[in-house]
Amino acid sequence: MQEGRRILRQNRLRKYARILSDRYNLEVIVKDNIPCASYACTDTTKKIYVQSTVNSDDFMNLILHKGLTLHEIGHILFTSSIAWKDVDKNIASIIEDGRIEEAMSRKFPKSRMYFILINHKLLHSDKIEEETGKKLINHSLSTQVMQLVFRAAKQSTGIPPLPRKVKENIKEKIGENNYNWLVQQTIKSVQAKTDKQSSEITKKIEKKIKEILHMDEYDSFYGMGVLKIVPNAETSIEKVDSTSQKMPDLPKKDEEVIKQVVDELQKEMDEQDEKEEQQLEDDELDFDDIDIEDELTKKIKKNYERAGNNS
Ligand SMILES: [Zn+2]
Repeated sequence: MQEGRRILRQNRLRKYARILSDRYNLEVIVKDNIPCASYACTDTTKKIYVQSTVNSDDFMNLILHKGLTLHEIGHILFTSSIAWKDVDKNIASIIEDGRIEEAMSRKFPKSRMYFILINHKLLHSDKIEEETGKKLINHSLSTQVMQLVFRAAKQSTGIPPLPRKVKENIKEKIGENNYNWLVQQTIKSVQAKTDKQSSEITKKIEKKIKEILHMDEYDSFYGMGVLKIVPNAETSIEKVDSTSQKMPDLPKKDEEVIKQVVDELQKEMDEQDEKEEQQLEDDELDFDDIDIEDELTKKIKKNYERAGNNS
């Protein structure tokens, strides 16, 4: 990104972030090589970092910058690191990212569209495929289970649900009761009134996953970042006290919008599944239908006929 444009963008996002968060000492830093592994991060109190080039298209870059800044404002307003200190970082980041996007969407209803966009553009379900070159169905059960939690956590902000085959595979391996429990508890955690309540439910989810998968520690998971907070942020302590970061109430009409978005995504996913299955069936049919001998006979016959006509 051109230097003049970068500074203008930085000023614009800073103004935007200060107004929305009502914190007038908040800094937004737009640059390359931000101190985090993802597109944006925050120390949860004073600074937001945003990667300067997220998309090669200028307009899309601007929209994604706004979306990423909104996400980080969500951490500024709703995340207190102390609530999450005893929870595994992988799972904490998945749930908390879902929770703050949910909370922001309630506080600023228009922000939901931005989350749907950044999640779709930057954290799309196919990202795991792009990164590893293999379909989710071919990944380990632990990755599939974490993807289940991830998608349940972001179900109202734009991450499509799991492909049907992966769902079926997980249900078969861990049982339908465990599957349903994980989805329900994740949604409950994301919609919890306070971050403290959310982290308590998340601890139960963590324990359950470890039990189900017979593991002591989580591996790192493809397709999702760890808690996008600047490491060793001393400043985060000042916000943390006994009062939890509360989730705003959801306006009634938003519930309908969420339902629509989820239904739409589910439909899209099912259609894709069906298309793939049809393709597979067609491939199999093609394979069965080719009778080499018959094809050969036909060719020879044709040649004979042609030869006959010529003579
Ligand atoms: Zn985040």
